[in-house]
Amino acid sequence: MEILYVHPAKQEADARFDKYIPCSPYPFIPVGVVGLVNMLRREGWDVAGLNLPMELTMRPDFSFRRWLADQPPAKMALIDLHWYEHCFGAIDTARMIKSVWPDAVTVIGGLTTSNFAEEILASHPEVDYAIRGDAEEPLRQLARYVFGGDVDAAAIPNLVRRTGSEVRQNPRSYFATGEMLDGLDFVSTDWLAHAQSYGAIQYSGAGWIRLQDPDVRGHWLTIGRGCVFNCIYCGGGKHSHSELAGRNGYVMRSPEAVAEDIRRLRDAGYRQVALSLDPATFGPEWWQTLFRLLRQKAVKIGIYNEFFQLPSREFIAEFSATADMAHTEVAISPLSGDEEVRRQNGKFYANERFLRTLEDFKRFEIPIFVYFSLNLPGETFKTFKRTLELAQAVGQAYPSHLLRMLNPCHTLDPMSPMSRNPEQFGMEVAYRTFADYYNYCRATGWQPRNVLRGQHRGFEMKGRPTKTVEQMAQIWDLFAEQQPFRCFPVPRGW
Ligand code: SF4
Repeated sequence: MEILYVHPAKQEADARFDKYIPCSPYPFIPVGVVGLVNMLRREGWDVAGLNLPMELTMRPDFSFRRWLADQPPAKMALIDLHWYEHCFGAIDTARMIKSVWPDAVTVIGGLTTSNFAEEILASHPEVDYAIRGDAEEPLRQLARYVFGGDVDAAAIPNLVRRTGSEVRQNPRSYFATGEMLDGLDFVSTDWLAHAQSYGAIQYSGAGWIRLQDPDVRGHWLTIGRGCVFNCIYCGGGKHSHSELAGRNGYVMRSPEAVAEDIRRLRDAGYRQVALSLDPATFGPEWWQTLFRLLRQKAVKIGIYNEFFQLPSREFIAEFSATADMAHTEVAISPLSGDEEVRRQNGKFYANERFLRTLEDFKRFEIPIFVYFSLNLPGETFKTFKRTLELAQAVGQAYPSHLLRMLNPCHTLDPMSPMSRNPEQFGMEVAYRTFADYYNYCRATGWQPRNVLRGQHRGFEMKGRPTKTVEQMAQIWDLFAEQQPFRCFPVPRGW
């Protein structure tokens, strides 16, 4: 192997999942990584991939250090630091790689990296390079540079690097286009250790599980990048992408290329494809073409889709006529039963329209996962009463065997509107720097004995102490217990 890619856990690189009870290790690889690794392979590099949290949970005695020591050292190691939950795990992974392979060049990338690149390079010598924003062209050039090619490191776009004791940002001049994304391979995962097992990981509502039947595999597929919304708790919204990756709204792949990828997945035995963005927000021409092509190709596969807002009736009808319902699920996030709290947080629909949309889902027997969000700004005892009422109404209206529901707490996302403008949302913010997130992740990797739900989330809503969140969580837990459908208690971990 010339290049190693590692997806880090939230926890330390030598975590022992058989000795303590972990919080989620977050085993899902950022969707864009598949395209990046396959691009490097197409360029001729020998790349291998390791999903560390998956290995650590599958084989509790797995030692990353021993595994590294058993391999001929790779010259370059790529570690994703896309979601803030990996701030500690990604750095600890780089530290472990450097301790076993001191000459390996370590590179990180992703949205969280893009936000904190200078601070990371200034304070973590185990990281050699960070890529800010889109990474295809920067990574292609950096690989050539590391392997001795005729490349000037100072001219590699989007690269953040050290020169002596200084950290420098190269020009931010590379931005992915839809055509470029269509040219990448977002499907092949044969470079990943235990790729079959990776496909069988799913979120159950109570945590990440590996399905017993390895034939029921799913795959997250890139269908574009960016977002056109600015939900205030999310670091992947329009403004965030604009600032961190120079993108204005969506960059979409073509429905033709996406349909072809889905056909490949079906042919490879996958039962479900999970879409990285919500096609219902792409415009009718895009999704009508996708669904028509899938039907023309006779590609029947389950689809997992997270609706950013509410889909139209026409979308639901086309979706149902195309997807294999036995392996389909859609997620929908009203956030709160209070319409004002929902609107303030970025979802723009009334309860009546939401319930009407569920009637449309019901007609086609579509399995749904409904997400509320317990600790968002604006949710108080008074509004929470409306959340319980709406949850109850959903439970009564929707068939129990097709319904899952969760009401988790959010942690402050470093690139979110909440983080940038806390005053605007009546909040006080505790996490601001990379060091804050590194310490948060390090302190919350394992289940504590006693914890108040809402604690260690990086923010407080003014006038709503953490113990109020815990009281609401206890009420939700009682509600959840009494429901005939799969209604999960508020998670205690992070
Ligand atoms: S949560 Fe909102 S801002 Fe974030 S990706 Fe989804 S729709 Fe976009």
